[in-house]
Amino acid sequence: MSNRKPYVGGNWKMNTNSDSSSSLARGVAEACESVQGSVELVVFPPAPYLIGVRSILNSRSSAIGVGAQDLYFEGDGAFTGEISLAMASDCGCTQALAGHSERRHVIGESDELVNAKVKAMLDGDLTCVLCIGEKLEEREAGKTNEVNERQLRTGLADVGQRQMDNVVIAYEPVWAIGTGKTASPEDAQEAHAHIRALINEMFGDDVAARTRIIYGGSVKPSNAATLFDQPDIDGGLIGGASLQVEDFAAIAKAASGA
Ligand code: PEP
Repeated sequence: MSNRKPYVGGNWKMNTNSDSSSSLARGVAEACESVQGSVELVVFPPAPYLIGVRSILNSRSSAIGVGAQDLYFEGDGAFTGEISLAMASDCGCTQALAGHSERRHVIGESDELVNAKVKAMLDGDLTCVLCIGEKLEEREAGKTNEVNERQLRTGLADVGQRQMDNVVIAYEPVWAIGTGKTASPEDAQEAHAHIRALINEMFGDDVAARTRIIYGGSVKPSNAATLFDQPDIDGGLIGGASLQVEDFAAIAKAASGA
């Protein structure tokens, strides 16, 4: 059993509205109260609702963190539509996602742009959840490890050893995101072990032993425990199921028992 604290993030994506983001925040705070000490829990609401969600969680003295789904790497200026790190911090964010597959493959972000965002987040003292993972055709071509290695090495280029304390890696096979298909616990474990070995090569064994590597891709209450039982799986990044209070709470509980 590792001494890494399990991590469960809820990525709300472009879902909810003012009312439903508030009631989801209230529901999650209540339903997850008992596991807050044993699992690091973070929600990633859409940007317009960050302040509201943070203040609801504060009003309940909840330890649940709030993160941004994406941030631009520049400090300020003529970048229409983008959100800066300072703005996210102002809204109470302590974390942010970088390189989510929808940013990479729908919006078209390159590995290099993801790296610029990772460095900006870490330089600004935010915890960065770097998402990596292969597409279906890459898996079928036997390129899973190759893709993960490229996205990991480029994503973490010029990141210092100490900064790795503020990095969580989310392995999210693209074919499993929002599709209902989940990697088998064995396949996910194999990918996670490979990622940990790469972190060892890049940053040494202490960092590799400390870094949380979480799994994302159609995690549900029914499959969470077997995934989280794997030795190199330290929790999950949850999309669809994070919009249902009971499902998210059940997944958080599964992580607390892993
Ligand atoms: C995600 O958005 O990171 C994700 C894993 O989504 P889902 O759980 O819906 O597959």
